[in-house]
Amino acid sequence: MIIDGKKISGIIKEEVKEEAAELLKLGLKPTLAVVLVGLDPASMVYVKNKKLACSQTNIGSISYELPESTTEEELLSLIDNLNNDKSINGVLVQLPLPAHIDENKVILKIKPEKDVDCFHPVNVGLLQMGAGSLLPCTPAGIIELLKRSGIEISGKNCTVVGRSNIVGKPVASLLLKENATVTITHSKTKNLSEILQNADIIVAAIGKACFITREMVKEGAVIIDVGINRIGGKLYGDVDFEGLEGKASYITPVPGGVGPMTIAMLMKNCLNACKQQNNNI
Ligand code: NDP
Repeated sequence: MIIDGKKISGIIKEEVKEEAAELLKLGLKPTLAVVLVGLDPASMVYVKNKKLACSQTNIGSISYELPESTTEEELLSLIDNLNNDKSINGVLVQLPLPAHIDENKVILKIKPEKDVDCFHPVNVGLLQMGAGSLLPCTPAGIIELLKRSGIEISGKNCTVVGRSNIVGKPVASLLLKENATVTITHSKTKNLSEILQNADIIVAAIGKACFITREMVKEGAVIIDVGINRIGGKLYGDVDFEGLEGKASYITPVPGGVGPMTIAMLMKNCLNACKQQNNNI
């Protein structure tokens, strides 16, 4: 079965829209500030999509499109202002930043309560403790895809391929929280195919087109493909989608699988941040 991320993300956005409308009745407008520095074309598209999603879900958005020449000090000072502005509930600085700005300093500057990307070490730590309230968007989206497709996670062997701070490590934490038995693999892992043979659920976050092939996975495995690889204008996942036909029990397509979930979960974080900043209303 193909897991339809477009459909599931649409349902989540609808839920956020309804809840945000309820908050509006109480005089609260969940609002996201998006900061973009420079003219990176991919980042510009991401920012545009985030603003669009805000407008679809009753979330307010304010964007700051700053020139490439913006200094680190100027950016940190803007974040300070946004941190202190009560009308802003979420602060998102689009990465990557120009080379003269230290990304780590920027991530550390965002108030954890407003860190809707969940990159701040406080939120990363809370996630490890299973206590996070703002969750990393792509990993949380993966858990939603599994749950809303009726796939049991508890007690399952889950193998995550990739150990990045954005996808691999946090999705492993969330799967563990859902009581899966989690194996994390990476480029130095020996005998990946053997490990995958034991996996009921595979999350592929590698960044290599069609890397996971039919013979690597066991019959009936659930495959979540996070990869986005553009080759000759076409998008490919990290999994050989066509090759897995008839072998996987559930699989996410690329595009239309994990991708749309990331923005939906960002909207959910904005809503939750607003609620938490207003006495957990
Ligand atoms: P990174 O490049 O940060 O991490 C890739 C991971 O894959 C690393 O941990 C690396 O191991 C591992 N890896 C590389 N080669 C192998 C191999 N041969 N065998 C096993 N593991 C390997 O990428 P991200 O995690 O940021 O992203 C992964 C993919 O997901 C990309 O295609 C990206 O575009 C996509 N993505 C999609 C999102 C969405 O919304 N759908 C959101 C974020 C990312 P090591 O650590 O040893 O180098």
